[in-house]
Amino acid sequence: MKLYDSIILQTLSVLEKAKPLSPAPAWPDSGASELVMQRDAAFELGGSGEPSVNYTCVTTGDFFAESGVFLLGNDLPALKADAPFARIVLLLTDEISEDDAGHDMIRGMEFVRYHVFPKGYMVRVSSTSYEEQVRVSKAAVKSGISFAAVGADYLEKYKAVPGVKAVRVCFITDKAAVEALKPNAKKVDDITKTLSHILDGLEADCGHCSLKAVCDEVEGMREMHLGKKK
Ligand code: SF4
Repeated sequence: MKLYDSIILQTLSVLEKAKPLSPAPAWPDSGASELVMQRDAAFELGGSGEPSVNYTCVTTGDFFAESGVFLLGNDLPALKADAPFARIVLLLTDEISEDDAGHDMIRGMEFVRYHVFPKGYMVRVSSTSYEEQVRVSKAAVKSGISFAAVGADYLEKYKAVPGVKAVRVCFITDKAAVEALKPNAKKVDDITKTLSHILDGLEADCGHCSLKAVCDEVEGMREMHLGKKK
């Protein structure tokens, strides 16, 4: 699976100065979406006109072998006002098969994106703008919430997806880096949608396919679909 590799390379170059965070106990998970009212918020990530982006890439390449949480910019305890925000997840996985296991992996990856609920950390994901906004409560800040602890929540959930071998969760509050990563989100979404289409087993009819532009650009995508039909 090398479909996302050029985007992963660009992402890692933007995140060259990101620091690995020391492992921390997972932050309590509310188990369901929790409302943090504005009056109870310490600050927002990716809100109030600040740039924001969120995407997840899959690879079988040798970019990394160990799981970890990384940060570029200020951590939550250091933030005093609304800030730019990106959360980028890189997954090292088994080869994506063209059967139910491949489907389960992609579905699981998308499911986790919307189903991590750290207490006092209200996440709003926009699938159309590829943004993620987070409202962090004053109570959570007082209790010592950090990206290491929130990242541990995400690590736990992603590691439970079948076929996932290692996970990198990267949090970014550095404005220049968030801006540099933003253009990748639509490309990642296009690749994931095309991959899902292929795994759905739909006929490879490039002449009438609305995803042709993606296959023209992403190395290996067309071969994957045509190979599946042999
Ligand atoms: S290989 Fe052809 S049919 Fe398959 S997704 Fe790409 S353009 Fe569409």
